[in-house]
Amino acid sequence: MFKPSETQPQHGHYPEATTVEDLQRNLAAVRTRIEAACRRCDRDPATVRLLPVSKTKPEASLRLAYAAGCRLLGENKVQEAHRKYEAMQDLHDLQWSVIGHLQTNKAKLVARFATEFQALDSLRVAQALDRRLQIEGRSLDVFVQVNTSGEASKYGVAPENALAFMQALPAFSALRVRGLMTLALFSSEAERVRQCFVLLRKLRDQLQQSTHPCIGLQELSMGMSGDFEIAIEEGATVVRVGQAIFGARPVPDSHYWPHDPHA
Ligand SMILES: *Cc1c(COP(=O)(O)O)cnc(C)c1O
Repeated sequence: MFKPSETQPQHGHYPEATTVEDLQRNLAAVRTRIEAACRRCDRDPATVRLLPVSKTKPEASLRLAYAAGCRLLGENKVQEAHRKYEAMQDLHDLQWSVIGHLQTNKAKLVARFATEFQALDSLRVAQALDRRLQIEGRSLDVFVQVNTSGEASKYGVAPENALAFMQALPAFSALRVRGLMTLALFSSEAERVRQCFVLLRKLRDQLQQSTHPCIGLQELSMGMSGDFEIAIEEGATVVRVGQAIFGARPVPDSHYWPHDPHA
């Protein structure tokens, strides 16, 4: 059961989903958790989008997720995402959201297959993406990743640089800016996690006052398997959930992100 004082267990806790029924059950359980969180803070559950995150999971699991109704999947490594995209071309309406840091030299791949990119954190990447998208005749929904935990090793624009960053984005017409994204501190202390979400929401509210109207800033992508209830209470409009849907990953999250020394 969810206890407001603690984040959910994050590692090795969720059993592997191996059938379409497993995935349906897990998706339903996550939606129930989303609804309960919305009820606590008087929000309409329709204002929270669930993005299933399939990173590290094999193609077979992704196909089960598709069979269970998922049409947009989140992946944090571009090459892995592109490989899966190519292998699953037969699923014509399956779309891809890239949610991890991007190097400029991989912008070309993202421009080719992704419909959403949630980890924009440099103008060089914005420029590279825009150039490739223009060539492809495509556009891309983007979220600006903000480093709300202050950990030097986490990606994202520093909150104090976010305004200047946002003001530079209208130059890139193939990028449709939707909002902000963050990874909270990895900590079992709910209050410290919550502060990251509060910071993102306040930053979004400030930026909305001072940026060009063509910059969309409605969306707040925040919250994962262990902390999405807290994120919803603080205004999340997108929650990115992997393990609670697909099962625990074999590799610890320190493989993707640094450890929280205070956890
Ligand atoms: C893996 C990942 C998630 C999902 O994490 P879970 O613990 O599996 O829910 C969310 N956001 C990003 C950026 C990720 O890389």
